[in-house]
Amino acid sequence: MAEAKRHLIVGAGTAGWNAVTAIREIDKGASEIILVSGEMPYSRMVLPYYLANEIGESHVVTAGDARLAALKVTAHFGRRAAKLNPAANLLTLDDGEEIEYDDLLIATGSSPVRAPVPGADGPGVHNFWTLDQAKGVIREAAPGKRVAVIGAGFISFTILNALIKRETKVHIVEIAPRILPRMVDETGAEIVENWLAARGVTVRAGAEVTAIEGEAGGKRLRFREGPEAEADLVIMATGIRTNLEWLEGSGVETRAGVVVDDHLRSSVPNVYAAGDVAEGPDFVTGNPAVHAIEPTAMQHGRVAGANMAGVDTPYRGSLLMNIVDLLDLEVASFGSWNDEGAEVFSAVLPERPAYRKLLFRGGRLVGAILIGMTEDVWATNDMGILNGLILSRADLSAWKGRLREDPFDVKRAFVAAGATGDLLPRTILGRPTVPAGETAAG
Ligand SMILES: Cc1cc2nc3c(=O)[nH]c(=O)nc-3n(C[C@H](O)[C@H](O)[C@H](O)COP(=O)(O)OP(=O)(O)OC[C@H]3O[C@@H](n4cnc5c(N)ncnc54)[C@H](O)[C@@H]3O)c2cc1C
Repeated sequence: MAEAKRHLIVGAGTAGWNAVTAIREIDKGASEIILVSGEMPYSRMVLPYYLANEIGESHVVTAGDARLAALKVTAHFGRRAAKLNPAANLLTLDDGEEIEYDDLLIATGSSPVRAPVPGADGPGVHNFWTLDQAKGVIREAAPGKRVAVIGAGFISFTILNALIKRETKVHIVEIAPRILPRMVDETGAEIVENWLAARGVTVRAGAEVTAIEGEAGGKRLRFREGPEAEADLVIMATGIRTNLEWLEGSGVETRAGVVVDDHLRSSVPNVYAAGDVAEGPDFVTGNPAVHAIEPTAMQHGRVAGANMAGVDTPYRGSLLMNIVDLLDLEVASFGSWNDEGAEVFSAVLPERPAYRKLLFRGGRLVGAILIGMTEDVWATNDMGILNGLILSRADLSAWKGRLREDPFDVKRAFVAAGATGDLLPRTILGRPTVPAGETAAG
């Protein structure tokens, strides 16, 4: 009898865990799966709900001991990959243990980077990226506490609702001239800033922090210009970097992330990469890109897992998509929302407020920005429509005149273009999904 294939998966976040389940959907337990991860399997994306006290820790975790056993996974948690030798198919862990594999998935995600200012590592300064870091913030963010958030990007805003729900006083500072510079344009940023200001959230854009002083519970932020700010705790959300250091000298090609092809294969044929750490094809442009978002991690993981299990599965590319609810204002951008060469139709309804921007290349929608109040039913409905229109690559030439006049009227174009018919039969693996309860290894 042939030896069982040994799949080694490094990283148990969304990408790594989806690879595990995709493999088991296909081989029902015929192979060996070894999962090495610095942390147990959990979803970072739900940490804001944990901070808001809306879910408990058990809902953050994606797989406990029983599930790991049912899927016949040999786990090494709390251990980190230190060195990869692809010529010998050998991974060395941080304690010196060596693990052999037949194929390997790099799914080590990314880590937060703190702004290089004096005091950035001081007491009372937090990141909000891991479960442990979330617990650190939860311990200190009691009602009435003043929280300074450094960085006004997507991650900062994913935790804003939770901080308000905890009845803290939130003050956001951003070095760029405006908030959300990598998610919405200037018009969008202004609408969001006004919305937050009207709800007591102070946002100070164009503000460069030069030092963080004081003890936990009594922090002081100094700026290049303007008055100091005081806070009880500071949360730094000043960017992330891919976790690639353990691949140094391995010969696996990396740029911003691990370079992968349309099967999520790296420059080494039996080494794959998925999720935040991978630089894979962008759905709209086809160009390589790192998309540090949950849907990409999930899709990459499933596609890489299927290919590792021997089912040839090409990937159409990942669609950049950021969606956040800010105190009942829905803010979303999709695809090439900042494509300067695109034809743009946009409109603002200041009284709601609402904002819509559609970006076209020829008859094809390639990007969009949507801002609308949660109470306006279309705000959430239209997110699905815009997402679907981009993914279906529908030809909207006949509808462009109407959409130029009213970029909010996307529903009719969606129905007429038959986008649903194109999308419904599609799954990431090109076949029906298997319910979670049916993926146990037999
Ligand atoms: C607060 C917060 C809110 C978010 N909200 C959203 C959202 O609303 N929508 C959205 O699309 N995305 C969101 N994201 C981003 C999303 O969580 C990430 O894109 C996703 O977690 C990426 O999955 P991944 O598996 O690639 O990496 P990760 O989830 O980071 O998992 C990587 C795993 O690898 C392990 N690891 C790292 N280095 C090593 C090593 N050397 N050896 C062994 N193991 C290692 C880590 O411990 C971890 O277990 C949010 C993220 C955060 C932090």
